[in-house]
Amino acid sequence: MSDPGQDLITITRRPDTVFVAGQGAWLTDERGKRHLDLVQGWAVNCLGHSPALITQALLAQSQRLLNPSPAYYNRPLLDLAERLVGLSCFDRVFLASSGAEANEGAVKLARRWGSRMRGGAHEVIGFEQAFHGRTLAMMSASGKPGWGEIYPPMPAGFAKARLNDITSVARAITPRTVAVMIEFVQGEAGVVVADRGFVRELRALTAERGVLLIADEVQTGIGRCGEAFAYEHFGIEPDVMTLAKGLGGGVPLAALLCKEAFNCFEPGDQGGTFCGNPLMAAVGLAVVNEVCRAEFLAGVRERATQLSTGLQAIARDFGLVGERGVGLLRALVLPSDEAAEVVTAAHALAPVGLLLNAPRPHLLRLMPALNISAAEMDEGLALLRRALREVLG
Ligand SMILES: *Cc1c(COP(=O)(O)O)cnc(C)c1O
Repeated sequence: MSDPGQDLITITRRPDTVFVAGQGAWLTDERGKRHLDLVQGWAVNCLGHSPALITQALLAQSQRLLNPSPAYYNRPLLDLAERLVGLSCFDRVFLASSGAEANEGAVKLARRWGSRMRGGAHEVIGFEQAFHGRTLAMMSASGKPGWGEIYPPMPAGFAKARLNDITSVARAITPRTVAVMIEFVQGEAGVVVADRGFVRELRALTAERGVLLIADEVQTGIGRCGEAFAYEHFGIEPDVMTLAKGLGGGVPLAALLCKEAFNCFEPGDQGGTFCGNPLMAAVGLAVVNEVCRAEFLAGVRERATQLSTGLQAIARDFGLVGERGVGLLRALVLPSDEAAEVVTAAHALAPVGLLLNAPRPHLLRLMPALNISAAEMDEGLALLRRALREVLG
C-alpha cells in the first residue's frame, strides 16, 4: 500500500489511517472503523468533533460576512472581545490565529512596555521544558531540550528558570528582564502542574520587581482545567494572557489579552491579515458562551474526577507510577518508555480504536472533549486497560 502522505513535506510520523468524519467523542476512518478520541486535536476540540454549535456559527457567519478586512471593525470581533473581557481579569483583547502568534504578540507587548516604562528591559524568562509554539522566537522562549540547535541562530532575549523553584526565577531576573512567561500546567512537558505556592510567590516576586507575568493559557484556558481560565485555579491574576487551542474549538483562533496598564501598542505595531476575522471570531464567541457557563464547568470538574479516579485505579492495577493533572488535562505515568507502543496498540484495538497521545516516552496525555459523557469516559478507560494489557501484559 502506498503512503497516504507521499505528497506532504515530512514533519512527523503518522499512522496510515485517514480520518473522514468526526462526531462528539468519536472519529471515523476511511475503512469505516470508529475511534474514541481522547486527543481531540491536542486539547483543541473542547466541544468534541463537529458540534452543531460550531457548524451553525460557521454557516450563519459565512453567509453574513466572511472578511471585511482587518482594517475595519466587525461585529463578532467586538462581541468576542467584550465577552473575554467580561469573563476574565483583563481589559483588552487582540485576536490572532495560532498560539505561537498570540505568544509572539505577548512578547512584543512586553518589549514595547519595557522600552517605554522600564528603560529598555526586553528579556523574557521562561521555564525549562516549557512549550510556547514553533515560530523561531517561541522556540527560543520554550525550554524543550535540543530546540536551540535545530535552526541556529536563534532569536536572543530569552532566559530560563526552573518551574516550582522561586529562587531560580529570582536569580534569573536582571535589570534587562521585562517579563516571566509561564504555563500553569506544562502540557507538552508531560502535564507538569505548577505548585499553587510557587505561582503565588511568582506573582508577588514579579510585581515587586516590576516584571510582567505572562500566562500562556493556550492549552489550559477555556474550561480545560475546570475553570474558564487556569489562573483562577491558582488564585492570582496575570498581567497578560494568551489563549488558542480550545478558544476556537477546532478552528484557528487565538487571543492575546492584557490589563489596561499594558495596552501599549501604537497603531501599526501589531497586526495580521486574519487577526479578528469574523468567521473565526463568531465560532470563538459560540464556544466561549457554551464552555464558560457555570453548569458546563461543573460538568468538566465531574468528568475530571471520573477520569482521575479511573486513571488512579489503572495505575494501581498495572503497577504504574501514577496519574496527575488539572481538570481534563491529565497524564498517566508509566514505569518505562512504552507510551508510544501503548498509543499504537490503542489505535489498533478492534472493533473500535482508542486515540491517545504520548508527549514523553514514559507518559500518556489525555485531553478528552470537555463535554464527553460519563459512559464514553468509562468506555475510554476500559479501552485504555485493554491497550495497556497488550503492551505491559
Ligand atoms: C499548543 C501550544 C502552543 C502553540 O500553539 P499553536 O497554535 O500550535 O501555535 C503554545 N503554548 C502552549 C502552552 C501550547 O500548548
